[in-house]
Amino acid sequence: MKRRALLFLGLAALAVIPAIVWAQGAQYPITVVAPGKGPYTFPPGYQTPWDKIDIFVTEKMSANLFVLHGSEALDPAHPDSSGGRAMALFGPDGVLLVDTENRQTAEKTLKAIRGFTDAPIRILVNTHIHPDHTGANAFFAKQGAIIFSQEDLQSEMLRPPARGNGQPAPAPDMAGIPVGTYKYNPATPGQPAVTFTMNGETVDFIPMMPSHTAGDTIVRFRKANAIYIEDFYRNFGYPFADQAQGGSIKGMIEAVDLFQKLAAPDTTLIPGHGTLIKKGDLLPYRAMLVDILAKVKKLRDQNKSLKEVLAANLTAPYDKATQGDTQQSKDRFITEVYDEVKDFPPIVDGKRTMPRHP
Ligand SMILES: [Zn+2]
Repeated sequence: MKRRALLFLGLAALAVIPAIVWAQGAQYPITVVAPGKGPYTFPPGYQTPWDKIDIFVTEKMSANLFVLHGSEALDPAHPDSSGGRAMALFGPDGVLLVDTENRQTAEKTLKAIRGFTDAPIRILVNTHIHPDHTGANAFFAKQGAIIFSQEDLQSEMLRPPARGNGQPAPAPDMAGIPVGTYKYNPATPGQPAVTFTMNGETVDFIPMMPSHTAGDTIVRFRKANAIYIEDFYRNFGYPFADQAQGGSIKGMIEAVDLFQKLAAPDTTLIPGHGTLIKKGDLLPYRAMLVDILAKVKKLRDQNKSLKEVLAANLTAPYDKATQGDTQQSKDRFITEVYDEVKDFPPIVDGKRTMPRHP
């Protein structure tokens, strides 16, 4: 009996060894679930079925740095993968989270995290204000997280815009407001505002110039050689500078240029949506931004109306290479550029008063 038990243990140990060797030799990043490619269509009046959406590990950047993202083909705002990517660095020092996914999937995001760690959730950094990145802030604050962000993001969150029907904005949930704040300094772009050393990793929160919004932060994991670059870049749909929240197309170009200095050629860049990239992949994106800015400016200088500029179909040369190139995504992008090339409003408390187009 004893010998059989020993033999069994020996076999069990043998079965474990290849898994360990594989893990040690693993080449990161590992893609577990790639985002979908589309095209996607949703019937009129479609409502996102939040109960059907799952959140799971989609990429691994190192043995203790995982990326979380949502189901494909259910969320019309992000059909390739619901929500905005979140990241979790975990280990004996606790969990550091980058972004939280949507409020409606908060429990599923926590469940996904509990699938690989029981450590307490201690730190949360918000890369920008959009609800697919900050929606579960209050939920994770109640789990114990202290929330960090740029001061502009905090201002945006404290003063939510009025509702379309003329009603005042609902009061913000104070539990979800970032309390560890810092500012972007134009004199020192790329300089970390906060650095954490935990779980064998060094993590830098780097405030960005107004680009996707006024309160953008990128998050660098030095040892994993990976940077979460949030949404100033995207490869599903056309660029989105949320100008009402302080974003800027020209700021996106500056952000790309900063990455040519910040990242090594082999650094993995993790956008909020779409596929993982390297810094070289930012260059065709930059060229497109520069090209469209020049073309829209020329038309606007000729006093063309927004309608005429949209009708010029300036994105046509890029449609083939742009996944998720819906009419809505193109029109939004061209409208942003149109508004930026002339009389672009300044940022006040993290916001710009953008013109309304009928
Ligand atoms: Zn966003």
